[in-house]
Amino acid sequence: MRFIADLHTHSKYARACSPALTLENIDAWCRVKGVDIVSAGDFTHTKWFEEIKEKLVPSGRESLYVLRDGGAPTSPPPIPLPKKPTLFMLGTELACIYSQGARKVRRVHHCIYAPSIKVAGEINAALLTRGCKLGSDGRAIIGMSSKELLKIILGIDPRNVMIPAHAFTPWFAIFGSNSGFDSIKECFEELTPHIFAIETGLSADPPMCWRVRELDRVALVSFADAHSLPNLGREATVFEGSESALSYDAIMEAIRNAAPAKLTQPPSPQPSPIKGEGVKKDPPPSVGGVRGGGGLRMSGTLEFIPDEGRYHYDGHRACKACLHPKETKKLGGICPKCKKLVTVGVLSRVEELANEPAGRVPLAHPQFWPLIELDKIIAEAEGVKGRSAKSVKKVYWDLVAKAGTELNLLLNLLPQEIAAIASPRLAEAIKRVRDGKVKIDPPGYDGEYGVVNIFDEQEKAAQKKLL
Ligand SMILES: [Zn+2]
Ligand SMILES: [Zn+2]
Repeated sequence: MRFIADLHTHSKYARACSPALTLENIDAWCRVKGVDIVSAGDFTHTKWFEEIKEKLVPSGRESLYVLRDGGAPTSPPPIPLPKKPTLFMLGTELACIYSQGARKVRRVHHCIYAPSIKVAGEINAALLTRGCKLGSDGRAIIGMSSKELLKIILGIDPRNVMIPAHAFTPWFAIFGSNSGFDSIKECFEELTPHIFAIETGLSADPPMCWRVRELDRVALVSFADAHSLPNLGREATVFEGSESALSYDAIMEAIRNAAPAKLTQPPSPQPSPIKGEGVKKDPPPSVGGVRGGGGLRMSGTLEFIPDEGRYHYDGHRACKACLHPKETKKLGGICPKCKKLVTVGVLSRVEELANEPAGRVPLAHPQFWPLIELDKIIAEAEGVKGRSAKSVKKVYWDLVAKAGTELNLLLNLLPQEIAAIASPRLAEAIKRVRDGKVKIDPPGYDGEYGVVNIFDEQEKAAQKKLL
């Protein structure tokens, strides 16, 4: 069986996030999107954690939760909900701001996971004891190093996990051009073996990461980092296995085992556990062989086309300067309009860190599938500007109701099944997205999303004549 997990989500309490991001709404929207497992998001936030404790109950799958009966979504999808409840994992994102080494300021975001509400509470308590302010932003800003934070969470429970978030984005990431590091090792030093995955982020995909040899050691995961309900599942990680195998440990083990180096080599010994401050915890239970996690396997990721991501190219949003890394180099990193330094995006950063040629493929790796949200595809097929147009929404909900879930339509339905429910033009658009035959022009840069073009100018003109 296939499970789709989106393990980087936020709540209504995180900066720049929609007030509709409640547990009830997240549960409902994941069901129509086709996301099986979602992060409860922002568990470090004081008020949100109260809601988590009140509303989430054990699911019957070890360390995964479901919403308690009774709560109703305030922004319900306008179609009947698939029956299967969404599974919640305890997750949060933290922003570490600190100085280390040559750079004065490091700003690095990390996704943190805990195997239970109890352990998440212990993490919160440990951070509060150290003076961290957890009550203001859902994505709490803490004045401690990535390494210190990792040490704390592993000391509380060795099953806790840290995954560096949107790893190459310029401002807040482990490899960010502005305040990041040049390697995982530089950031985590002797604790490096405990980092077994990175989140590639919207502006990067696995082939870009394969140019950096160090990353063969880690799994490349993708999650949506949704700031609103419609963006849930826009990137996700896919697991295969029997339903009975599903658990927090099995998911983490499957991720751990999806690193290219692990897929091609015999298992290496686990890193020794960090000595905690509290009671000595048992090591994590053994969960299966090297290729799986208790029968669960990470088969791949659903990927935003990286050019569409908000930091793919370099440039200045305010100056409308969108630059390919080669142009940036020619210009000496200076914006042609305002003459200040440009924001260096993900493509440039990968090029800088690369020690493998473009096109290099590791011997073994999980798969990846290009993904564009269905409402964007509909807008493009219908020749409508904007995914939130009324006419787009009508088609969207009609199709999702017929297909069961959005991701089922985008990933699984056969061409003839799509043809039976969608217009020929929309069916063609979905096919082109599946085949990766999509042009993103201009690409994303300095916080601006890239523009999706599924049909070329000639095709668009012909469509306009028909309307
Ligand atoms: Zn972040
Ligand atoms: Zn400028």
